[in-house]
Amino acid sequence: MNIHEYQSKEILREYGVAVPNGKVAYSVDEALEKADELQTDVAVVKAQIHAGGRGKAGGVKVAKNHDEVRTYADEILGKTLVTHQTGPEGKEVKRLLIEEGCDIKQEYYIGLVMDRQTSRITMMASEEGGTEIEEVAAKTPEKIFKEEIDPVTGLLPYQARRLAFHINIPDEYLSKAVKFMMGLYQVFVDKDCSVAEINPLVTTGDGEVLALDAKLNFDDNALFRQKDIMNYRDLDEEDDKEIEASKYDLSYVALDGNIGCMVNGAGLAMSTMDIIKYYHGEPANFLDVGGGASTEKVTAAFKIILSDENVKGIFVNIFGGIMKCDVIAEGVVAATKEVGLDIPLVVRLEGTNVKRGKEILADSGLNITPAESMADGAEKIVSFVQ
Ligand code: ADP
Ligand code: MG
Repeated sequence: MNIHEYQSKEILREYGVAVPNGKVAYSVDEALEKADELQTDVAVVKAQIHAGGRGKAGGVKVAKNHDEVRTYADEILGKTLVTHQTGPEGKEVKRLLIEEGCDIKQEYYIGLVMDRQTSRITMMASEEGGTEIEEVAAKTPEKIFKEEIDPVTGLLPYQARRLAFHINIPDEYLSKAVKFMMGLYQVFVDKDCSVAEINPLVTTGDGEVLALDAKLNFDDNALFRQKDIMNYRDLDEEDDKEIEASKYDLSYVALDGNIGCMVNGAGLAMSTMDIIKYYHGEPANFLDVGGGASTEKVTAAFKIILSDENVKGIFVNIFGGIMKCDVIAEGVVAATKEVGLDIPLVVRLEGTNVKRGKEILADSGLNITPAESMADGAEKIVSFVQ
């Protein structure tokens, strides 16, 4: 799960990780009010969307007076920002962070990720702050330094110091930089983060070490014990179909293609997407209805696929083990009764109760193309939508 920059900064502040003073605003008037409350000569107006690269896209503006706060807030609120992380459709800005402008000496990068190769949380740091770290990694990987963290001891101060030395943080900022890194690591562990990225971390003219930007991502599997993080959820930032799917505990990810897929089991769902691609088709979604799903759940899943305007055909690919083929068939029929079906539907059923499942579909009067195998089904649905 993703949260906004201002929310990440609230969490950092709780852990003693220094961030500039700032307040969230939902309207231009509120932005002016918050800027006044900050009592600062320079305020920065920052678009709050779940994507980075806002600066380059015009979503971060430095306002030198009251009028400029108004101008920029008015300009950014309601604007659809297109950044390298939003995709071409962009994201509409509905919230602003009004933040104290700070006197930046130097920008750095600090990140924490789970390194799957070493199975350890790893802290990364670079002198090349403010730019995309992916670019630094591709062009000048020697400018990124890493510390693997032992889960028993946690991040040790000497590791933080070593990183600070590597990225040339001047001595006078050293103790603050170490405190910053230790706090950031504690946030990562306590809050079950999957990514914590501070880009840029800055040193300032008045001797501070601050997080100017903050991005925290959380492991969805840990949200059951992170209730306070769940309160930060912003449904405006999520795909409607994915929100609906999460209500039914369905593993659903919206994609760009036009072939809707309903599959059971994550592995089968992945290989279904692969085989569609193999026949030069494009999946519209990843969907795993899971094992032992009820008719209601299957119905909900099928309705979510049908609600996607890009979907020009549907491929149901089920291997009934725990999941029973008749339950799938009933779900398909129930959903199409409610919302109709005017696009091609190819169904491949195999496994438990397959005979009963096929009967239900045959008796439904729906226009269904049966498939003998996964490959057969994929080939058929791709030819239908082309
Ligand atoms: P993004 O990464 O989405 O572009 P950032 O929060 O990193 O957004 O902001 C982009 C740039 O704007 C920063 O690298 C920094 O130079 C500048 N900036 C952001 N916040 C402030 C601030 N409070 N004071 C001064 N400059 C800022
Ligand atoms: Mg940034």
